[in-house]
Amino acid sequence: MNDQDFRDHDDTNKKEYEDVCFICRRPESKAGRMFKMPNNICVCDDCMHKTMDAVSQFDYQGMLNNPAVFQMMNMGMPGMNGQDQADEEEKDDKDSRQPQMPKGFPNISFVNLGEFPNDGIPNRQKIKRKKAGEKKPVLDIHSIPAPHKIKAQLDEYVIGQEQAKKIISVAVYNHYKRVATGTMDEIEIEKSNILMLGPTGCGKTYLVKTLARLLDVPLAIADATSLTEAGYIGDDIESVVSKLLAAADNDVEKAEQGIIFIDEIDKIAKKKNTTSRDVSGESVQQGMLKLLEGAEVEVPVGANSKNAMVPLTTVNTRNILFICGGAFPDLEDIIKQRLNKQTSIGFGAQLKDKWDKEKNILSKVTVEDLRKFGMIPEFIGRLPVICTLEGLNRDMYVRILQEPKNAILKQYQKLLELDEVKLEFSDDALEAIADKAMEKDTGARALRSIIEEFMLDIMYEIPKDDNIGRVTITKAYIEGTGGPMIDIRGNHYALPDMDQMKQIETK
Ligand code: ADP
Repeated sequence: MNDQDFRDHDDTNKKEYEDVCFICRRPESKAGRMFKMPNNICVCDDCMHKTMDAVSQFDYQGMLNNPAVFQMMNMGMPGMNGQDQADEEEKDDKDSRQPQMPKGFPNISFVNLGEFPNDGIPNRQKIKRKKAGEKKPVLDIHSIPAPHKIKAQLDEYVIGQEQAKKIISVAVYNHYKRVATGTMDEIEIEKSNILMLGPTGCGKTYLVKTLARLLDVPLAIADATSLTEAGYIGDDIESVVSKLLAAADNDVEKAEQGIIFIDEIDKIAKKKNTTSRDVSGESVQQGMLKLLEGAEVEVPVGANSKNAMVPLTTVNTRNILFICGGAFPDLEDIIKQRLNKQTSIGFGAQLKDKWDKEKNILSKVTVEDLRKFGMIPEFIGRLPVICTLEGLNRDMYVRILQEPKNAILKQYQKLLELDEVKLEFSDDALEAIADKAMEKDTGARALRSIIEEFMLDIMYEIPKDDNIGRVTITKAYIEGTGGPMIDIRGNHYALPDMDQMKQIETK
């Protein structure tokens, strides 16, 4: 970028972002008219007046009577006499931008604000300007995709979880319909925040990320573990909204229609048997109530907590869709206990351990179970849509490996394709990978680490030999008892292991 480019870039930034007062840090939309000073410094009306008042009340006479100050004035401050003034002008003519040392102060230099980059407030701490005159809603009711279309797009990425995808598609569709219509009449549609339950690595975050991408709305992913009541060590609850604001490029209007995903929501359950103040549990739930329902909140711009140096802005959370997700580890026991109690009484009594073997017990969750787990009723009440994701089975693992649009196997195939090598996986190899992943019990996240482990040798050895045209990963290779099958261009060799492969290369 040359100088001109930088200047152009700076100009567009100035137009797009509001000015922030150098003293009180309020943006233009709150503080009003700004006085523009040299070096990109802006000061709001209030602060300017306060400064002027302070200056006018200053006891100049007392200052001049002070012999030390009097002596200093006589030592020749720049601009104090005609000669200095002339000197200054001469220097300007020569375009010497170096800060000049005033005469008579050998080791003292005055702070030159021009040396600070820009005005000291980075863009990430500035609010985007509202476009004047343009008052069209960001969402058009006809442009919101219908639930079946949302689900079809989710299907391209997320494997299984049919019920969850269906529930979310409908909830999101209704939510954005509500946003687009606003309050047209007295029938106000209620907010459909979502609570998502499911074991780790089954695709909760992935589902929300995919959703935000296809709807083209800003998304913030926050972790409930770090949240604490305001004033305690940890992130303030409002920090989740500032994250969304940052994701929306500090555009308040855009952020007000975004999605906030709060992961690990089970970590803010009410702590049991605690005598101290529950600052990261129940208090956080209490603090989140007004956010979930919709309120005007003051959020710090470009930071996690409010402090004197951070500008604040107001965001209305009324149209922000909140999705809370969590694994709720002990919830299964609570559900089982309830179900066992129900079925062991009366004529319809069933075997006591009937529910112990049930796999997807989470789908039977009720509000009562969540309350027992430690979520306060007001909090659950503000998350009216509850959906559960099932734990992954072997078949789903195999599909996750190869079916999604950006499936991990497709990624490796593409990498090797650039070397003109075809990468294939035998069916039993895929099943062997799935089995290995299931042992780890961390959901689909385990797949990547397993594949990376055995693909390392392949990715290292294959580019050595230009003759290799195709590699087929076999079950034996995954289990460490054999090697992959290598096809030399034109011929076909089956190699039992990597050592033999290396021998071929050396021939
Ligand atoms: P969590 O449920 O713990 O939030 P994630 O959504 O982060 O888990 O899943 C981790 C990774 O596993 C994702 O990045 C995605 O690639 C993969 N994954 C998990 N579940 C699925 C699924 N149902 N379909 C496709 N990929 C999945």
